[in-house]
Amino acid sequence: MNVMGFDSHCHLQDPAFDEDREAVYSRAFSQSLGLLVPGYDMKSSAQAVLLADSHEALWALAGVHPHDAKTFSNADQQQLKNWARQEGVVGIGEIGLDYHYMNSPKEIQKEVFQAQAKLARELDLPVSVHSREAEDDTWAILRELPGIRGVLHCFTGSKEFAEKLLDLGFYLSFAGPVSFKNAHELREIVAWAPMDRILIETDSPYLSPVPWRGQRNEPLRVVRVAEVVAAQKNFSTKQVFDDTTSNIKHVFRV
Ligand SMILES: [Zn+2]
Repeated sequence: MNVMGFDSHCHLQDPAFDEDREAVYSRAFSQSLGLLVPGYDMKSSAQAVLLADSHEALWALAGVHPHDAKTFSNADQQQLKNWARQEGVVGIGEIGLDYHYMNSPKEIQKEVFQAQAKLARELDLPVSVHSREAEDDTWAILRELPGIRGVLHCFTGSKEFAEKLLDLGFYLSFAGPVSFKNAHELREIVAWAPMDRILIETDSPYLSPVPWRGQRNEPLRVVRVAEVVAAQKNFSTKQVFDDTTSNIKHVFRV
């Protein structure tokens, strides 16, 4: 299949799609959208790998989200390695730090983020990073891993953080929040960021863009994110899909 664009981060394995997962997938597939489906714990990573096995234009990432860092074991680390060798698994994620909810203690979050990021580098795979209220520590961990590549998913941070990530060679992935009424600063970052470092995503089932804010999100709505990015850049939506597709191919090697 010739992919026309990508949703670089959607959780199609989420229970929110249990009733109609194949229909949601088909709506995206019929518009020639490729999907990257990251895990957030071991179970959802296993489900992502299975989805990649059985669906065209769908790739998986495996990893443990900071919320569940406290459950991460050596056996999990080994299982991530095993998945990483499978066809259709293109990265480690989502991993990172979340000091907003603090569902796992800070020190454990840092350790588990670091362990998985190191593993990704060892395997020569990109990472999909979640960072909430943890910009300094996220950067501190990534900068100590020269050669690591990846994306900061659902970027909603400061311009300083964006600059530091770009310096490290990272990509910024924008999601539904770019369409929110009060997101002026975020849209300025979209306008400013170099087009060869931008990805787009939905983070489905979360963060539906306007005008569907508050509803369950789905991969097809990445079109809306592309439209907002296009407006900020004075590009056509097609150009945004073309550019972000070549960026995805570069960083995830799909
Ligand atoms: Zn996510």
